[in-house]
Amino acid sequence: MKRQQIGKVIFAGAGPGDPDLITIKAVNFLKIADVVLTDRLVSEEILTKYVSAEAEIIYVGKQCSKGISTPQQTINELIVEYALRRKLVVRLKGGDVSVFSNIMDELETVVKNNIPYEIIPGVTAALGAAAYAGIPLTARGYSTAVRFLTYYKADIIKEGYWQELAATDDTLVFYMSSETVAIVVEKLIAHKISKDKLLAVIEQATTPFQNVQTSSLYEFIKNKQETFVSPSLVIIGKVVGLQEQFGWIGNNNSREYYFKPVEEVAGKIKLSA
Ligand code: SAH
Repeated sequence: MKRQQIGKVIFAGAGPGDPDLITIKAVNFLKIADVVLTDRLVSEEILTKYVSAEAEIIYVGKQCSKGISTPQQTINELIVEYALRRKLVVRLKGGDVSVFSNIMDELETVVKNNIPYEIIPGVTAALGAAAYAGIPLTARGYSTAVRFLTYYKADIIKEGYWQELAATDDTLVFYMSSETVAIVVEKLIAHKISKDKLLAVIEQATTPFQNVQTSSLYEFIKNKQETFVSPSLVIIGKVVGLQEQFGWIGNNNSREYYFKPVEEVAGKIKLSA
């Protein structure tokens, strides 16, 4: 049989925080991986528990506030470099691999280089946060759809779309928007969103430090809270009201970080250049 000339890349979701939310398929690949390229929002426990001692773990996460960020080009090059050395590479991403991630650049890179690959889904933050907060996203009689959105910079949502977002009964989930949540709420109020829509900000969802804050949009604007512990997710809709009844984990209210800054773990794990 012809010897394999190149390795393989497994794009795998790690889930939103709780290490037990990773899939068995992803774990099975982590156990045999030669190299794991991992994001910041991956539970360290997953790396210590499932990756073999001989494997190389490389942080390629973006951690802008700390000034540590691996350019996409470097990540693409690392993937190709290891695959061409016949390694089994697991590219581990927080949550699901395809939701608000740069997977397309990486897929284009492997396709261009004829590198075989597989994609393993993960529990995305919206689903993890909703479950662990006790918010049924499409509860009967409340909402018949969910929209996954982001608003980390102004031009992402066109002016005309705010009108629709304010009018719809769909549940709205905003990723990467904890710094802009006040603007999101102002826009929705300006477009006359109904007063029975509520907002939840879920910090560090599915981790021991999960913190859920709910309020009406109008109260939220009055209170003017501007900083949230990263990562945090915003859910807006009537379904948020169900949290009071179905929430099953108390808030931790700790400002401690579950996803440790990379410097703290760098002793054990290599940082990309
Ligand atoms: N691919 C990831 C999303 C990456 S974008 C996924 O499918 O979940 C990063 C954003 O995801 C964060 O800014 C935050 O809005 C959200 N997020 C990820 N993990 C989270 C967590 N544990 N708690 C709350 N929000 C989270």
